Amino acid sequence: MFNLSGFSTSKAEPRHTRVLILGAGPAGLSAALYAARADLQPIVLTGTQIGGQAALTHTIENYPGFPEGVGGAELGDLFQKQAERFGATVEFDSAQSVDLSVRPFRVVTDNGQYTADTLIVATGASPNHLEVPGEAELTGRGVSYCGTCDGWFFKDKKVVVVGGGDSALEEGIFLTRFAASVTVVHRRDALRAGAILQKRARENPKIDFVWNTVVTEAVGDEKLTAVRLKNLQSGEESLFSTDGLFIFIGHTPNTQMFAGQLKMNGGYIEVDERMRTSVPGVYAAGEAADPHFKQVVVSAGMGAAAAIEATRFLQEMSA
Ligand code: NAP
Repeated sequence: MFNLSGFSTSKAEPRHTRVLILGAGPAGLSAALYAARADLQPIVLTGTQIGGQAALTHTIENYPGFPEGVGGAELGDLFQKQAERFGATVEFDSAQSVDLSVRPFRVVTDNGQYTADTLIVATGASPNHLEVPGEAELTGRGVSYCGTCDGWFFKDKKVVVVGGGDSALEEGIFLTRFAASVTVVHRRDALRAGAILQKRARENPKIDFVWNTVVTEAVGDEKLTAVRLKNLQSGEESLFSTDGLFIFIGHTPNTQMFAGQLKMNGGYIEVDERMRTSVPGVYAAGEAADPHFKQVVVSAGMGAAAAIEATRFLQEMSA
């Protein structure tokens, strides 16, 4: 039973593990694979989303080893099966609070408590919101942050996509499978997305672009019926009728739980080249610790590196 403020006083004894991994995206599950193959029987807490953001991507075309691409959910499933085959345990549970001031580290979850000799933080990132009127109220009623999840509901409908990065174009292109038209609204007149996606989007007859423009309101009562647009050059406002509003304007790392306990930079957990955080025995990998690359292959590599370091740390501890 823990006596620390913020910790549950549940009578259940904490479950101890040598390696506890928070997050079951590419980083967490790769860490699990490596820790499992070091015979450390790691436990992975999935958080709310097994497979991480990658699992929400319809097709991943740039993960090596899959020349024809691979489904995001399928890749997550393969990662999990491979880690479990070597002895990792994946629990559908979310960490609520952590105490990294003593070792073993202490983690309180939705369903119980854990103590861990090493911790690998792979909690990923969540999509940013526009923070405009109507957005929260109409989420799930026309407003969405995932084309792969919700595209089906927009068969033969009009949709608006906000953003000019890889996510906006990738998801916009995916949405053309269902939607009658996809209008990409971008705040500048130049796209941030990579060349291949730009070319595909510009050549897609169902996609058109509205430049130098932002969405200032999601409009509708029971469901979305329009968005209010504002041209940033002329200041002109207009109402644009649409059935869907898909928002892809970047992500924020899920690291709030570690504030004040791990050194951070702009919300990202600071790691050195060996995935070590400011607390010995705690490692971070994937988008929670990666402001630069945000690629599935990089997250997987960071996860593997974190687990190798955790293994070395445990060996030194017991030497
Ligand atoms: P991103 O690259 O940060 O792009 C976000 C886009 O949203 C930018 O175009 C940005 O405009 C715009 N934006 C940001 N805040 C906004 C606001 N408040 N209102 C309106 N527009 C706003 O994010 P992402 O597309 O999610 O990509 C994240 C990372 O994942 C990137 O490193 C990307 O390469 C990677 N990724 C890769 C793939 C792939 O390789 N196939 C797929 C998806 C994501 P500005 O351009 O003006 O800043």
